[in-house]
Amino acid sequence: MKTIGILGGMSYESTANYYTLINKKVNERLGKNHSAKLLIASVDFEEVVQQQKSGDWQASSNLLAQQAKNLQSSGAEAVLLSTNTMHKVADGIQNAIDVPFLHIVDCMADELLANGIETVGLLGTAFTMQDGFYHQVLENRGIKVVTPDLEIQPEIHRIIFDELCHGTVLDTSCDVYIQAIEQLKDNQAQAVILGCTEIGLMIHQDNSPLPVFDSTLVHVEKAVEWILGE
Ligand code: GLU
Repeated sequence: MKTIGILGGMSYESTANYYTLINKKVNERLGKNHSAKLLIASVDFEEVVQQQKSGDWQASSNLLAQQAKNLQSSGAEAVLLSTNTMHKVADGIQNAIDVPFLHIVDCMADELLANGIETVGLLGTAFTMQDGFYHQVLENRGIKVVTPDLEIQPEIHRIIFDELCHGTVLDTSCDVYIQAIEQLKDNQAQAVILGCTEIGLMIHQDNSPLPVFDSTLVHVEKAVEWILGE
């Protein structure tokens, strides 16, 4: 079994899910009392949020690159970043380490293509929906990306930071997300990416008008395959 390093804390709610899910899946595959060999570098999310708000992505890149190096020197044989948004600085992280970086959007592209999805809706923070770094990876793989109307995007963003990152799940907010997914469906999306690692706390296959590709679940599955060399 190989050791993986998680760059987490963005937010701690989703990192806790990664920790539990990776361990559960490793245990399901190996049985007995097996669990995953994990290292976690968990940052103070408020520092990162302030850097996002001021547009200081270089500071975030430096911070996460340093944490990734620490994981590698502590024995991580690969690194994953358990947030979609911060993949905006994935290049800075990848360039700082010599071990593989399990890029969340590459993992998502593999999964979408394996399921024959050519046009997909994307929900996430405003950075993820608008800044192009997510679209670029998917479009390079031949997948068309659609996003909800600009009017609804600020509310999708607000719900992530004010509610989901604190583990708060409200019916009124769930309704907003379902409305956004309906828009994506009207815009020919065949499925929706939950492109924020907390959205799965609220939206899942049973309440979504479109088939769901949850970035946390997709990323976790690829991590487990990597850990076990499958
Ligand atoms: N966890 C979220 C994501 O997957 C948002 C938090 C962040 O800004 O990193 O994008």
